[in-house]
Amino acid sequence: MAKLTILEFPDPRLRTKAKPVESVDDELNSLIDDMFETMYGAPGIGLAATQVDVHKRLLVADVTADRNDPQALINPVILEKDGVTVTEEGCLSVPGYYDEVERAEHIRVRFINRKGDEVEMEAEGLLAVCIQHEMDHLEGKLFVDYLSEAKRQRIRKRLVKDKRQRTADAVTL
Ligand code: ZN
Repeated sequence: MAKLTILEFPDPRLRTKAKPVESVDDELNSLIDDMFETMYGAPGIGLAATQVDVHKRLLVADVTADRNDPQALINPVILEKDGVTVTEEGCLSVPGYYDEVERAEHIRVRFINRKGDEVEMEAEGLLAVCIQHEMDHLEGKLFVDYLSEAKRQRIRKRLVKDKRQRTADAVTL
């Protein structure tokens, strides 16, 4: 397994629309393992393939406190959504920023699991929010898109500056 590099806003690659996964094979499963390692290591509760510069419709999530319920969703489709919930969201691609986003409280989602079986799952609360957040990534959308233009520009400026600072501080060996 290997930890993957997470793209950060405003990297234009985060705006790529992901393509459907065509086959669930060893290569895909090893990508899923790497995505779990990257997500748990970050640490985060969800990660979309888009964030590691792989533009396939795939996401991983684990919203449990014990980190013992890994979910990999391949080609996810939301069949139903209802209710409204507002959550203070963050994102591994927008480090250090959190803001309130409104999403459906409950969803029913169909996807292919890592064994290649098509399954349906009901999700509510944090898992439902997480899946909706990660599915936005597959469309090239970020949670900051729900905020005002002024807020988004502020975040963009700050992250670009931080990144320049990190690069300047880096030691080349
Ligand atoms: Zn995210």
